[in-house]
Amino acid sequence: MAGGVSRPSPVSTGLACRCPRCGRGRLFSGFLTLVERCEVCQLDLRVADSGDGPAVFVIFIVLAIAVPFAFAIWAWFDWPAWLVMVLTSILVLGGSLGLLRPAKAILVALQFWHRPQNSFHQSGGSGRGTIDHANDD
Ligand SMILES: [Zn+2]
Repeated sequence: MAGGVSRPSPVSTGLACRCPRCGRGRLFSGFLTLVERCEVCQLDLRVADSGDGPAVFVIFIVLAIAVPFAFAIWAWFDWPAWLVMVLTSILVLGGSLGLLRPAKAILVALQFWHRPQNSFHQSGGSGRGTIDHANDD
């Protein structure tokens, strides 16, 4: 990698819901509650704030899939409208709940790696791109 900095991909750590710095520690202690510190690299995650970003991205993605799905099954099958609405609601609810955690984890990882002035790097730790490999297996 350029600059000799080894770091986990924000997308891969986000999809795995792992720490953005080391890629190994758990990121969540609840459904959407972040752990206070990474159990592996001690990154302070109390300062992570993804705001409403994950929900907005999830809404755009899920609705871009659900609306064509609803029109398609309504057009292709002669099902009643209530059945189409129920199936679409299940798709929207399941898709939203399923994507919310990875979306939040990806945004936290992107914030960590691409905002040099953010509070991740002012709250202790060794900063971005300086992963301490002393505890590696
Ligand atoms: Zn970590």
